[in-house]
Amino acid sequence: MIDVDTVKSDFPILQTTMNEEPLVYLDNAATTQKPQVVLEAINQYYMQENANIYRGIYQIAEKTTEKFETVRKQVSTFVNSASEREIIFTKGTTQALNWIAQGYFLDKIHPGDEIVLSYLEHHSNLIPWQQLAQKTGATLKFIPLNEDGDLDLMAAKEIINSQTALVAITHVSNVLGVVTPIAELSRLAHENNALIVVDGAQSVPHHQLDVRKLDIDFLAFSGHKMLAPTGIGVLYGKMEYLKEMRPIEFGGEMISKVGLTEATFKPIPWCFEAGTQHIAGVIGLGAALTYLTNIGMDNIETYEQELTSYALEKLSSISGIEIYGEKAKHKSSIISFNLTGIHAHDAATVLDLQGIALRAGHHCAQPLMKYLQIQASLRVSFYFYNTKQDVDRLVTALLKTKEYFENGII
Ligand code: PMP
Repeated sequence: MIDVDTVKSDFPILQTTMNEEPLVYLDNAATTQKPQVVLEAINQYYMQENANIYRGIYQIAEKTTEKFETVRKQVSTFVNSASEREIIFTKGTTQALNWIAQGYFLDKIHPGDEIVLSYLEHHSNLIPWQQLAQKTGATLKFIPLNEDGDLDLMAAKEIINSQTALVAITHVSNVLGVVTPIAELSRLAHENNALIVVDGAQSVPHHQLDVRKLDIDFLAFSGHKMLAPTGIGVLYGKMEYLKEMRPIEFGGEMISKVGLTEATFKPIPWCFEAGTQHIAGVIGLGAALTYLTNIGMDNIETYEQELTSYALEKLSSISGIEIYGEKAKHKSSIISFNLTGIHAHDAATVLDLQGIALRAGHHCAQPLMKYLQIQASLRVSFYFYNTKQDVDRLVTALLKTKEYFENGII
């Protein structure tokens, strides 16, 4: 069970106002808010322990190095990787996916190979593969959605075949909230001697993900979508594949011995982490993981499911609303919709005046928008600090927004 009032009081920004209304923050798929404990951990690092890692032979440098490496272990436990050495720190999901594409697959993909994606992909899990396909002569294939808006598993069984070199897929759509069947897709990929890369940006923050149970080969996710600061993310890879992955960046920290014309590199994962790392980000991520673990990922998932059902029920009672993927059986806590006759950007502006922060636009998923035959949508995305009152405020504000555009009254 989540005591949401206590939880909410842990987040300073949730006590503030926007346009003189108490802030209702519903843009968690873009980034989440930060609890006091995360802010304090970062503050403490800068105020009392600020030093670069690995290099310093003095106390605070050693302490910070130890803290940094402890977070690597924490991340490993969080996703249940076989070893903490399978955890590489990156700037975020985007960088992790690019490194996987260029560092591992560039050497492995051949002309005629197929890279299987889906229509749900965020640009970050699309463009790196477009680039790879262009460089290697591989072909991109896309798994469609079924009538309800779930990933079409029947189609996936056809599309994933002996030509497939890899399946790169989002676990949760950042537009529709649809959850893809990773266990089945991973089995299908492996049966065809292909690998699976999972974009976990919208799933790792919201439920207990186990890389070994799902048999995931590579996983990418971002700290800022799970209470940590921006600029820190994670690339997980099975050790057998990391051994064949090339570093994309070279320089200080990742080296073992350097001569004028050649160099040797540190072992995995440090050989991938060139230059001074985002130490404060890693420390913030550690505090975020501790906070999430204390609440319990299963509690978070259950709470968000209940809140999303409540929101879907309330939203669907508004006349002239179109909710996308509403019938999908596998949904996370993201809902996209439009109000008939009102552009999403206009609606978002009027909602902002009423203290409601949500996203309007194409959500970095232009092919999906085209597939849905829309230009843009409004999107609410919850985290466990959102409440039914937030949903009620949203619904009231949406009704007022409709009235404003239909009758000019607010
Ligand atoms: N994939 C998905 C599904 C996302 O929602 C996002 C962030 N909107 C990304 C990838 C990219 O994450 P980041 O910008 O943190 O690299």
